Amino acid sequence: TAEDKRTLVQEFKLDPDSELRFEIESKNEKVYLVLKSGLAEVFGTELVKGKSYEFTSGAKVAVFTWQGCTIELKGKTDVHYVAKETPMIMYSNCHAALELMRISAEKDNVKGPVTMVVGPCDVGKSTLCRILLNYAVRMGRRPLLVDLDLGQGQISVPGTIGALLVERPASIDEGFSQEAPLVYHFGHKAPAANPALFSMIITQLANTVKERIEVNKKTKMSGVIINTCGWIKGLGSRKIVQRISSAIAFEVDVILVLDQERLYNELVRDIPNFVKVVLLPKSGGVVERSKSARSEARDQRIREYFYGTPKNSLYPHSFDIKWSEIRIYKIGAPALPDSCLPLGMKAEDHLTKLVQLTPNAGLLHHLFAVSFSEKDDDEIINSHVAGFVCVTNVDTERQMITLLSPQPKPLPNNVLILSELQFMDSH
Ligand code: ATP
Repeated sequence: TAEDKRTLVQEFKLDPDSELRFEIESKNEKVYLVLKSGLAEVFGTELVKGKSYEFTSGAKVAVFTWQGCTIELKGKTDVHYVAKETPMIMYSNCHAALELMRISAEKDNVKGPVTMVVGPCDVGKSTLCRILLNYAVRMGRRPLLVDLDLGQGQISVPGTIGALLVERPASIDEGFSQEAPLVYHFGHKAPAANPALFSMIITQLANTVKERIEVNKKTKMSGVIINTCGWIKGLGSRKIVQRISSAIAFEVDVILVLDQERLYNELVRDIPNFVKVVLLPKSGGVVERSKSARSEARDQRIREYFYGTPKNSLYPHSFDIKWSEIRIYKIGAPALPDSCLPLGMKAEDHLTKLVQLTPNAGLLHHLFAVSFSEKDDDEIINSHVAGFVCVTNVDTERQMITLLSPQPKPLPNNVLILSELQFMDSH
């Protein structure tokens, strides 16, 4: 109706230090955001005045202003409200402190701050990383984002960890540009599925990040921001130890703890004094995601890996490959009872064993990492990966599999590693 149409356009006048929050849940709904006057930013990326930004189903957005502004929303949001209480001042102070560390690193020609963001699920860890990275690039820095969040990370597909050089602010609707990320395959949604493998690839990633920092002066001074997986209450100390060990692998200088005093206190107690541990409040705007929303977000992430976004469509390739042309592996052999272990082997060693698989119907819909490694030993586990393919058909008669791939045939390498994650290609 005419009235509906009128209510679709809304204008908001925001006071300084406040933010407009909105969410879109309904499928196929589109919402357009325009900055009419003043200055505003979305998670640290400045809005261009008069430009229309499109948001689709699943978006949970905060438009924050330091100076005050007028914005217009066109379309149907499921929730929208203006919040005057935000932790942005504290996040911005954090950025200022990191910036001071960068300036002093520059003077002494040493590495800039390595910052790790930790805390439970749904406290805005990824968002805080994004804000800090955006503020850093806006000051001319070139920091690295390291993402250890296996389930809801910002790099590549779920089930991986990786690093990305940030050279410009995140795009408002699509996040950071994914040019040449460094990606390590883990193959599960959470570290608990294979802790031994998880710490192994973290160490590998940390070493590669260290090497990259050494050869790029600007990035060396700019430092690193590390995002982590949410840790679940009650699963306490083991996870903390894991956190600490990953802190050491990366030589972390600062740990930002979001919204968890207990974790903060435990870290202050257990972490060496030269690491600064800072407790920060979470934003009231962070939206808790249900299990199904998380699983949908993972699916969406994989779909975007192959098909791109509405703004930036990609056209993946589909082709057949003979079983004889590829070697397929999974990481982790079945556990042996202690009494059967060969001398000198630890009980958890089986978790990082490479096992060759014969193609079978069970591979259908699974993602596979395409390894860079030419060898068939531990190097496959330890090297970063070229990218991912998805098995869309297994033909046992012809001994062929069909792959969905971002690149045309031939594959960059014939070594494929199984991921637990699956993707149903509905195109
Ligand atoms: P996870 O533990 O799953 O990795 P997280 O702690 O990293 O979660 P985020 O991904 O940063 O949390 O935030 C969760 C959701 O809340 C995101 O969709 C994000 O866009 C939204 N969000 C964050 N801050 C705000 C805010 N101030 N207003 C509205 N939405 C927000």
